[in-house]
Amino acid sequence: MRVIFIGPPGAGKGTQAEVISREKGIAHISTGDILRKHVAEKTELGKTAQEYMDAGKLVPDEVIIGMMETRLSEKDCERGFILDGFPRTVPQAEVLDGLLRRLGISLDGVVLFVVPDEVVIKRLSGRRVCKSCGAIYNVHSKRPSEEGLCDKCGGALYQRDDDTEEVIKSRLEVYKEQTAPLVDYYRGKGLLIEVDASGESSAVVKSILDFVEGKK
Ligand code: AMP
Repeated sequence: MRVIFIGPPGAGKGTQAEVISREKGIAHISTGDILRKHVAEKTELGKTAQEYMDAGKLVPDEVIIGMMETRLSEKDCERGFILDGFPRTVPQAEVLDGLLRRLGISLDGVVLFVVPDEVVIKRLSGRRVCKSCGAIYNVHSKRPSEEGLCDKCGGALYQRDDDTEEVIKSRLEVYKEQTAPLVDYYRGKGLLIEVDASGESSAVVKSILDFVEGKK
């Protein structure tokens, strides 16, 4: 199974990708997670990426493309993958097409997470993430059993720097301007499926799996 998840920030792409990748034994590749690791480790790439991320802007295509060419060639991608947060611009999608061709593989589908802005703003401002394993919680809808601690690994939960109201608004604008054009790009290739992502997480997972498995 090889799929791309597209949708505004806070649509639940990371949460659903976590569940499906575990269930299917495939790689969950989140460019945001890879970038945050670079920032935490203060690598050269991380230093370049940080100012864009803090402002809610996209990191330049050339940085992302180099990083993803390496990642997609790794062994764990052979069984399949979910791309969460990549591609985010049409040039990134075009490079991905070329890369998949070179690797001799094709996509099963592109899932568009449809969710209203007000839901996104509420979700993102309540989101908390585990510092150790990246598991996602929410103060409104998915609290850990012990306040501030991850149920899975006991790690400390934190709020991402870009989950503040001002940066959330900028991320939504960036999504509409730079990422939304991918919807037509993939619709034109007959790969797009739209999922209502404002409801229950289990229903979202089910519609994604029904679609991908139904196609095989
Ligand atoms: P995310 O965790 O997917 O919300 O990504 C967090 C931030 O990382 C974004 O706001 C961007 O600054 C950056 N980022 C993640 N993926 C990409 C990408 N494919 N292209 C450019 N910037 C990205």
